[in-house]
Amino acid sequence: MEKRVIGIMGAMMEEIEGIIHLLKNRKEEVYGQRTFYSGQINRIEVVVVFSRWGKVAAATTVTTLIQKFQITELIFTGVAGAIQSHLKIGDIVIAEKLIQHDLDGRPLIQQFEIPLLQKSYISSDAEKLKQATLAVQDLLEASHLKGAIKDNDLDRFDIHAPQYHVGNIASGDQFFSNQRQKDQLLDNLPDILCVEMEGAAVAQVCYEHGLPFVVIRTISDSADAQAEFDFTQFIAAVSSKYSVEIIKAYCAN
Ligand code: SAH
Repeated sequence: MEKRVIGIMGAMMEEIEGIIHLLKNRKEEVYGQRTFYSGQINRIEVVVVFSRWGKVAAATTVTTLIQKFQITELIFTGVAGAIQSHLKIGDIVIAEKLIQHDLDGRPLIQQFEIPLLQKSYISSDAEKLKQATLAVQDLLEASHLKGAIKDNDLDRFDIHAPQYHVGNIASGDQFFSNQRQKDQLLDNLPDILCVEMEGAAVAQVCYEHGLPFVVIRTISDSADAQAEFDFTQFIAAVSSKYSVEIIKAYCAN
């Protein structure tokens, strides 16, 4: 059997810092201004890297993971803005399918269709999605959550009984910070749970290389005028801790 090598991409430097502390026999290599950290977590080979922001940045980062490090699967963690009103800050979305909301080749092809692939949505791998869901369920158990994140941080961000959701994510080169952007997205893509700037690009590259992947996002904001508020503090206090716990559980089996 092919040796398992997990590529781990994080959309925030703070997440990466937490995860690289888990690495045994850590090595660093730099390609294209990105530092790739390789080593083992629970005896599983992993390569950890900061995706950087936006579709192009994330797509080239995952391509390097595939070509230089021969990863056999990819897990992506980061934050996202909520599009559906039932999603709360501190909730987690596990992507079932991802779509590029800013891709529009009309009139040549349909809106959102990826040129040459004849599809708009790319699905996470069913098996990896199951594994990721188990890792997220484990984290969100009250006792685990309280162990990972300080009580006053949970209170400060009004996180009480965070939920996870499995559903669709839209990505594009746009930070959503007003209701008009949200309404427009929902008009076209009513099934989208949250928005971010990398996932669907990474999904396309993985699909084209036949690589199983899963994308997990913590809701950091409601993609409206308050989106900037406490963003940095939320990453440091909550989402970076979530990522570490999810990766630990994901790499346990
Ligand atoms: N803090 C950075 C900006 C981060 S970019 C800075 O100071 O420059 C935003 C990151 O969060 C991306 O990884 C994106 O995928 C995700 N994200 C979180 N909320 C988002 C929103 N409302 N719209 C789009 N992307 C969002």
